[in-house]
Amino acid sequence: AASDHNPRGNAARGWALHQAASDVIPGGVNSATRYVGHPYAFAGGDGAYVVDLDGNRYLDYHAAFGAILIGHNSPVVDDPVRAVVGTIDLFGLGVTELEVELATRITEVIPSAEMMIATMSGSEATAQAVRLARATTGRQLLVKFQGGFHGWHDAVARNVISAPELAYGRDPLSAGILDSALDSTLIAEFNDLGSVRALFEQYPERIAAVILEPIPHNVGALVPTQEFVDGLRTLTRDQGALLIFDEVITGFRHALGGYQEICGVDPDLTTFGKGMANGYPIGGLAGPRSLMERFDGQKGDVLLAGTFNGYAIGATAAIATIDHLRASPDFYTRTHALGERMRAGLASIVEEVGIQATVAGYGGVFSLYFTGGPIRGYRDLMRNDNQAYAAFHRRMTDAGFLMIPMSLKRNHISGAHTEDDVDRTLEAAREVLTGMK
Ligand code: PLP
Repeated sequence: AASDHNPRGNAARGWALHQAASDVIPGGVNSATRYVGHPYAFAGGDGAYVVDLDGNRYLDYHAAFGAILIGHNSPVVDDPVRAVVGTIDLFGLGVTELEVELATRITEVIPSAEMMIATMSGSEATAQAVRLARATTGRQLLVKFQGGFHGWHDAVARNVISAPELAYGRDPLSAGILDSALDSTLIAEFNDLGSVRALFEQYPERIAAVILEPIPHNVGALVPTQEFVDGLRTLTRDQGALLIFDEVITGFRHALGGYQEICGVDPDLTTFGKGMANGYPIGGLAGPRSLMERFDGQKGDVLLAGTFNGYAIGATAAIATIDHLRASPDFYTRTHALGERMRAGLASIVEEVGIQATVAGYGGVFSLYFTGGPIRGYRDLMRNDNQAYAAFHRRMTDAGFLMIPMSLKRNHISGAHTEDDVDRTLEAAREVLTGMK
C-alpha cells in the first residue's frame, strides 16, 4: 500500500549508487533524462508498482517512458521469455520461427502493415523509415512537427521541447549533429495543416516524408483533429511524399492496431517500439509490400542490417504481449476507462482548487499542463509554467506516485493499475494542488 511508502528523503542507498555510477557512467545514468536531481535507483517492479534500493515504493505512471504496458514483470511475458533463454540465442544466418510469428502478428493487427522488419529500438525503426522514404522518393527533405520526438539520430533530433525563442527555429537536441542533417529536417506545427502545406509549397518535389507521432505524447497529449490526419494523408499522397506514423508510444497502447486503427488513416510506414514487448527491447517498421521489399537483400536497394535484429527474447516478448492484448480486448476498455476517470478527476480538482492548469490525454495516458486551455498545438504549450509542474511532480513522487519528471511529458496507466490506484492518486493530487495554490 502507499502507506508503506517512505518519503523519498530516505535515499541513502540511492545517493551512494548515484555517486558510484557517476564515476564510471557519464552523469551516472545511461540515458540523459534518467537523472533529474534525485538519485532514483530501482531494485524491482511488480505490476503497477516499483520499489527502490531504499525501500520506497511507488505507484508507477512513468512506466519506463511507456515501455511497460501490461505491468512490471508480468508472467504473461516473462514466462515465455524464460522458456526461450537457454535454447534459442543468436545465429546470424537465416531466420527463426519466432521472427516469422512476430511479423505475421504485426501484419494481422496493424491495418497498414503487409511486411515488417524488426529492429532493437524505436530510434532504429525511425532511422530505417526515413532512409526508406528517401530511397523510394529520391528526395532528401523530411518534415517533422515541433514537439515530436522520434529518437536520437541526426535526421530527427531537433525541435522537441524547445524554449519559446527556439521553437520552430533551429533547435538541435545535441551537439555533434551534421549541419546538413539538421537543415534537411523541416519543422511544422501540429494540428495545423496549413503549416505543412506551406513547406510543400516552399520546397516543391523535395520532401520525402512527413513523420509524426499521431498523438505527440512527447509533449503530453496533443490529440489530432480528424481533419488534420485526413488532410496529411491527402496532402502527402498528392505531393508524392510518404506519411510515416511513429507509433512507438501510441502503438499497442491505445488500440491493438495503433492510432491508425482509431483514426482510420493508413500511413505508408509505421514505426513501433516501447510497449510492444512490455519492457524488452525491440522495435519495428511496417508498411506495404511495395515499399518494404526495398529492404530485400536480393532484389532491393536499402540496407537492412543489425546483428541483434529479431533476436529471440525480444521477439518472444513481443509475441506474448500482442497475444495477451489480442486475447483480452477488455485491456483497452479498462485502461481507457481508468484514463477517463483520472482525467475527469483531475479536471474537477483543478476547477475546485482554482489553479491554472489543463488536463489532457488519450486512452490510458494523462498529462497535466500548467497553463490554460484549449491546447491544440505546440504553440499553446509555450506558456506552460514549468516550475509549477516541477513542484507538482516533486510532491506527487514524495507521496509515492511516480510520474515522468519532465514538464510537458505524460503518464501511463498500465494493465496492472486499478480503480483504487487511480482514486488514491486523485486524493494525493487534490492535496498537492491545494498546497500549491
Ligand atoms: N519515437 C517515439 C515517439 C518515442 O517516444 C521514442 C522514445 O522516446 C522513440 C521514437 C525512440 O525510441 P527508442 O528510445 O527505443 O530508441
